Amino acid sequence: MKLIDGKAVSQKIKEDLKLRIDQIKAKGERVPGLAVVLVGENPASKVYVANKIKDCEQVGIKSIHCHLQEHTEKAELIKTIEKLNNDKEIDGIIVQLPLPKHLNENEILSHISIHKDVDGLSAYQMGKLTLGIPELTPCTPSGVMEMLRYYEIPTEGKRAVIIGRSNIVGKPMAMMLMKENATVTVCHSRTKDLAEICSKGDILVAAVGKARFVNSDMVKEGAVVIDVGINRVDGKLCGDVDFDNVADKCSYITPVPGGVGLMTRAMLLLNTLKAYELYA
Ligand code: NAP
Repeated sequence: MKLIDGKAVSQKIKEDLKLRIDQIKAKGERVPGLAVVLVGENPASKVYVANKIKDCEQVGIKSIHCHLQEHTEKAELIKTIEKLNNDKEIDGIIVQLPLPKHLNENEILSHISIHKDVDGLSAYQMGKLTLGIPELTPCTPSGVMEMLRYYEIPTEGKRAVIIGRSNIVGKPMAMMLMKENATVTVCHSRTKDLAEICSKGDILVAAVGKARFVNSDMVKEGAVVIDVGINRVDGKLCGDVDFDNVADKCSYITPVPGGVGLMTRAMLLLNTLKAYELYA
């Protein structure tokens, strides 16, 4: 069994990015910019936002943090987003989720310019991915693909099984693996014979949101197991895969923490540079 080291892969991506941004600076040009919008005081969201700002600083991306109060009205939030849409120094906009209950997330997100949608979740960016001509792609599945590439894990002709069909992970993951010529099966809460289907996967991606859900009966001998899950049990982070039970059976496996989560952060930075290069 080989551990897929999300820290090493994300570090390499960040180093490459820093070099590219240093070159932009050396030419005296404007550096890429990311705006992070936070509404309210959710402690976990505050940590995520602080990490995004810190990541930007590390690679030389300019960042703006717009912190709005919990009771901010829809119109005011939309005005903030539209101002950022028109800001020539800003290439990417992230609205940190979850939003306070009085705000409709889909409605709010739909106001982000498709050219600044560095989460890759707009109908335009998801559509481009589905058509096989991706521009800005969702960060978590993009990070998984980068990990597979880094470890030279082949996808062509392989059976890939994904547990989960969310817009943010499962669906775009399926599109990306299909584009790389894997034969993809997507499972969800109504899937019958889940364990049997999973146990046929050369590549198994778990994005369920249930701690240690995947056990060794669900894993093929020699499979590559990618654990997207982030769950908190007794104050400790753990994935959707029962790592200790499964690891011996895998050829490769990602740990939690230290796996996909770090890649998601790195891909947001990469998408910001991509938006700058594509649309600025
Ligand atoms: P989600 O929107 O809740 O989707 C979960 C998916 O799992 C759904 O498609 C659901 O099926 C399916 N599911 C639930 N119970 C199941 C069962 N018993 N058998 C088979 N399928 C089942 O979650 P998400 O946003 O995709 O996130 C999944 C996990 O990844 C969470 O732990 C989340 O925290 C983590 N995550 C991590 C990162 C990262 O950077 N590492 C990023 C995003 C998310 P239905 O569609 O039928 O309900």
